[in-house]
Amino acid sequence: MKPDYLIVGSGLSALVFGALMANSGKIVQVLEAHEHPGGFGHTFTMAKKYKFNAQFHYVWDCGEGQTVNRVLKKLGLDREVTFERYDPDGFDHMRMPGYALDIPSEPEELIRRLSLLFPESSDRIRGFINEVETTGEGMKKLAPPVKPIELIKHASEVFCTAQYLNSTLQDVFDKFQLPQATQTLLALQWPDFLLPPNQLSFYAWVALFRGYQAGAFYPTQQFEKVIDSLVRTIESRGGQVLLNHEVINFRVTNKTVTGVEAIDLETYQTHEFTGETVICNLDPKKAAKIMGEEKFSKAIRKKLNYEYSASNYMAYCAVKDIDLRDYGFGKWNVFHSGHDNLNEAFAQMYDRHDYSNPSFAITTPTLLTEESRDCPEDCQIIEFLTVANYNYFKPLLEGDRKAYNQKKQEIFDAIVDVVEKHYVPNLRKHMVFHITGSPTTNERFCWCPDGNSYGSSLTPRNMGLGRLNHETSLNHFYFCNASSGYPGFAPTFWTGALLYQRLSGDVILG
Ligand SMILES: Cc1cc2nc3c(=O)[nH]c(=O)nc-3n(C[C@H](O)[C@H](O)[C@H](O)COP(=O)(O)OP(=O)(O)OC[C@H]3O[C@@H](n4cnc5c(N)ncnc54)[C@H](O)[C@@H]3O)c2cc1C
Repeated sequence: MKPDYLIVGSGLSALVFGALMANSGKIVQVLEAHEHPGGFGHTFTMAKKYKFNAQFHYVWDCGEGQTVNRVLKKLGLDREVTFERYDPDGFDHMRMPGYALDIPSEPEELIRRLSLLFPESSDRIRGFINEVETTGEGMKKLAPPVKPIELIKHASEVFCTAQYLNSTLQDVFDKFQLPQATQTLLALQWPDFLLPPNQLSFYAWVALFRGYQAGAFYPTQQFEKVIDSLVRTIESRGGQVLLNHEVINFRVTNKTVTGVEAIDLETYQTHEFTGETVICNLDPKKAAKIMGEEKFSKAIRKKLNYEYSASNYMAYCAVKDIDLRDYGFGKWNVFHSGHDNLNEAFAQMYDRHDYSNPSFAITTPTLLTEESRDCPEDCQIIEFLTVANYNYFKPLLEGDRKAYNQKKQEIFDAIVDVVEKHYVPNLRKHMVFHITGSPTTNERFCWCPDGNSYGSSLTPRNMGLGRLNHETSLNHFYFCNASSGYPGFAPTFWTGALLYQRLSGDVILG
């Protein structure tokens, strides 16, 4: 039977859209190239006992009445898929030479902590944090679906926000003349964007920073439960999620998309799939290449002309007979920089592939929920994340596998050396498992072009008015992906839910 919605890709925005449509009585069929559903959000098991989520660490907008909660309620999953809150007194622990700052939920408390560290700059710090608050409120009013009356009621916030349309985080740091160390402490969560302050859109930073301030969360039953629940919703309502099916072509007649051609990666047979409407969760630019860019209108082609975000390096590790809580870890992330200037730290790693003084994130999933373990009782999981350049790793992998492995090992050693020096002496002694991922690992397992991490790069250019949305200029065909919405767990929930709302008329986001 021809489904109402044929969805290409099972990333989070696609699963949210598909689950909502299935829940409303539509027949949904999902084609996913990978052996696991979830895209960047999939979970894999190593050595039969350690579970790692590919990319998710912490998420926002999961509290009562917020985007994720509204969607889960609509699906009847809100009691089953629950979340644990990170420590509101310090959800991100920022560490750099000579300074330590735990970021609290309360903006006033953040001003207090920063002012204690930099008393001579307390007025500027207050000015900056207040501007972040005002911009964040204005951004909420400007986010679709826009309500003109709200724009008028909140004209001053909207005006404040509009002036930063083309600004980087660095532009706003400079405007408020924040000391270098203050800047670094505030922007140390840069791995959440894989961009340094001098390239990162101020809007992107404000959205994420305030999102986590309002509540940083981790799923009680791990991310796997979230993905499985959405898949189950689709399947239990007559839909299908077909794994190991790579879409290799789209059928387009008279500017109307009618179906796709997919190869079954287990049997290597190709099959035709049709749908009343086709939803594209794979990278929009890649989809346009497969279909032929000339099929799209000039306006859409312009929007498709985005640069990809940087890629990343991940180390997924398990440690045994040690409690990381004794070493400063807990219901928070730790962000470390050996450099006091993040623009320089980023360039050193990304442009020069030099990890001798690395800046990176440390996450400890086992400490975030008591109810579900991702490893045996006597072990804990610890993960490290930093930036890496696809254009460096790809030729290395293809040309010199040994050099590729050596580089991955070199980065691992550089990071673990820092961790042993500053956080957990003898970490290596307790490490019973580790595996590392590079940009080419992302490309292979998350099927993302150039190993990109967040879709289109989060620069002011890509975050501005010319940003792609669900519209494709083709009939019965819509984009539904981080690059046609926004990247991140809550933002992809929002992207999938907004498309559902637009196509069904059923309002869930307000
Ligand atoms: C290192 C890293 C850390 C992150 N950390 C966080 C975090 O802590 N918190 C947070 O909120 N967000 C985080 N994110 C971002 C978040 O993971 C993504 O923005 C989000 O999961 C993207 O979802 P999506 O719907 O765009 O689809 P994607 O996850 O991009 O999925 C697309 C799907 O399409 C499939 N596909 C591709 N090509 C084909 C084809 N030809 N045929 C069939 N299927 C195909 C892919 O296999 C994939 O399953 C992180 C991302 C990275 C890389």
